[in-house]
Amino acid sequence: MAVHGTGPYDPDNIFAKILRGDIPCKKVFENEWVLAFHDIAPKAPVHVLIIPKKAYVSFIDFSKNASAEEIAGVMQSAGRIAADLHLEDAGYRLITNAGQNAGQEVPHFHLHLMGGKALPAFPA
Ligand code: 5GP
Repeated sequence: MAVHGTGPYDPDNIFAKILRGDIPCKKVFENEWVLAFHDIAPKAPVHVLIIPKKAYVSFIDFSKNASAEEIAGVMQSAGRIAADLHLEDAGYRLITNAGQNAGQEVPHFHLHLMGGKALPAFPA
């Protein structure tokens, strides 16, 4: 079920549990800014979720409340992950869903990195 893209942050959402290590994930990458792991229901051969380690509900929450250093850290990490997964030549999609109209299911800001095939015409 889609969630509202506004706060307050729910510390018991599924990605908060993954960050705490309460439930497992298939980790792709981790640094001081992000954890990246395979989506449990992939929509493409490569479907990785990139989540900030800090608690933000949505992109607007992240853009308003994260420091410039953190925003740069998260975005540079996303670029590095896409490059490490060799997605650059063939292409990839990097999106975020926010709130009900976008069908956001998990109320912890995240980027979807998808590739490995020709993706459906946008929006997918
Ligand atoms: P949203 O719709 O919020 O943008 O995307 C949430 C994504 O999280 C979905 O693609 C869904 O498959 C994925 N997801 C939900 N629960 C889990 C989980 O427990 N583990 C992993 N790895 N992905 C999950």
